[in-house]
Amino acid sequence: MELTVYGARGSYPIARRDQVRYGGNTTCLHFRTRSGQDLILDGGTGIRVLGNEMMQREYAEGQGEAYILVGHTHWDHIMGFPFFEPFYREGNRFVVVSAGQAGVHIRDILSGQQAVLHFPVSFEHLQAHREYLQFKPGDHLTLGEFRLETVQLNHPGMTVGYRVEADDGVVTVYTDTARVREVRLGDGMGGLEPDAGFSRGYLEQLAHCARGADVLVYDTNYLEHEILGWYHFGHSTVEDALEIARMAQVNRLVLFHHDPEHSDTVVEEKLALARDLSRGEPLTVEAAAEGWRLVVGPDAGSQKGAKP
Ligand SMILES: [Zn+2]
Ligand SMILES: [Zn+2]
Repeated sequence: MELTVYGARGSYPIARRDQVRYGGNTTCLHFRTRSGQDLILDGGTGIRVLGNEMMQREYAEGQGEAYILVGHTHWDHIMGFPFFEPFYREGNRFVVVSAGQAGVHIRDILSGQQAVLHFPVSFEHLQAHREYLQFKPGDHLTLGEFRLETVQLNHPGMTVGYRVEADDGVVTVYTDTARVREVRLGDGMGGLEPDAGFSRGYLEQLAHCARGADVLVYDTNYLEHEILGWYHFGHSTVEDALEIARMAQVNRLVLFHHDPEHSDTVVEEKLALARDLSRGEPLTVEAAAEGWRLVVGPDAGSQKGAKP
């Protein structure tokens, strides 16, 4: 299975000279199996570039099929959908897979984003065929060759993390999640106050869903001095990511959801810190960069594409 990063930024897209290395588009990851099945995770602005590449393939003829996972519906994770070219080609087929938000179906959320006052083409008028699969966190899903486990993340509203398995490779992705020892966010997390018992159980759930994964992609939006007083914003640091990587015994950690105001230099500081803190451990740490493609699982030896 191949995993390609099309957007690694959180919160909002940004284009600055000092951010070219890691890129400024918001979250979008693309999984592809050996046989060519496509699974997209999140429709941040990175999905625009992915869509353009898909239009070099069968999607241009209206013969493409893909699964689209929407981890949660904050703007940085859905704002690229109106600019996703394969949606505008009749014959393409998509299954949108999401837990939605309390009482609101994902279809209505995406449709609301393209209300006439915001965008000239309504979601209902997109030519591609769309169907929906709604699930609850904790559910196991089979999407073609992809097998998924799901877990609720510690983030406002309903946010889902995924374990994605295909071609004997495993990737777990936690795009947005807060430090549970400081704050409990999200539907059903039982209020804002820290709770040691809850925290332990919750961290074990996160670790379980990432157990032995080839790759763990984790929200490391903040540096430690930045997260103080901002726990309720719903994000984590390198220290939090390392804790789960160790509990889950993964050997490859990818830092993700970079703060939009972080320059390449700051992202590299974060990376150096993670490598420092895990020195001597069987763990490789990298920072997600736009255009980076990695091969996961037994095919990893045939790695092509390099980190830009
Ligand atoms: Zn986000
Ligand atoms: Zn969010």
